[in-house]
Amino acid sequence: MLLFGATPNGRDLAPRVAARLRFGLTADCTGLDIDDQGQLVQTRPAFGGNIMASIISPYTRPQAATVRPNVFAASAPDALRPVAIEDFPVTLSKASIRTKVVETIATAAEGEKIEEARVIVSAGRGCGEPSHLELGWIPHTIQVGQSGTTVGPDLYIAVGISGAVQHIVGMSSSKKIIAINKDPDAPIFKIADLGVVGDALHILPKLLDALKT
Ligand SMILES: Cc1cc2nc3c(=O)[nH]c(=O)nc-3n(C[C@H](O)[C@H](O)[C@H](O)COP(=O)(O)OP(=O)(O)OC[C@H]3O[C@@H](n4cnc5c(N)ncnc54)[C@H](O)[C@@H]3O)c2cc1C
Repeated sequence: MLLFGATPNGRDLAPRVAARLRFGLTADCTGLDIDDQGQLVQTRPAFGGNIMASIISPYTRPQAATVRPNVFAASAPDALRPVAIEDFPVTLSKASIRTKVVETIATAAEGEKIEEARVIVSAGRGCGEPSHLELGWIPHTIQVGQSGTTVGPDLYIAVGISGAVQHIVGMSSSKKIIAINKDPDAPIFKIADLGVVGDALHILPKLLDALKT
């Protein structure tokens, strides 16, 4: 099995390698498993995120997938685990590299990256309007979910978020999930460790006061 990070570099490299060596590749997986036959079962959203497809590559080897950062929590380092590191000298001539970086443009986003944040408070449509968010309406660059970023913080507080599958795939690996929603049947409660049923606009100020004291 060959796993690549679904990072910009991984998404560039993996399909090129798969095409050159003619093996199957499943891009942007949100879950991996191994079935009774030793097949790698690769789960990813399909048809606009309306279904989760389980994909296997039975005809070619290696079985390969790209997986978004934060889909799995990193295990604790184990310094005693034996790992064989093999040097593999690569000789590339300049002439064989047909692409070159012309310019690097940093994104406009400032502050901490959400994929590295330990605590995330995520605001959904239930937050109503920009004036309810002190920082204002939040740009798409920090959207969580299938078309945004996958996150796995220690604590994820979902405020006024229903729990659509396209959102869940981006945050379900969070270690603790607290959901605040006025609808007791909202799907987000199915994956929340702690659910608070009520109006977020009343609950959040009380929560903030409690945190300050
Ligand atoms: C191809 C594709 C990709 C997508 N990618 C993403 C993605 O990356 N990320 C993403 O999030 N979505 C994505 N979506 C959209 C997704 O399907 C949902 O439409 C979206 O997640 C819904 O956002 P929401 O939960 O904020 O809003 P809603 O589904 O409208 O839910 C609002 C929730 O707020 C609750 N609520 C209302 N008022 C209050 C209140 N005062 N207090 C407390 N609770 C309240 C309601 O009960 C409701 O549950 C994608 C869709 C498609 C088709």
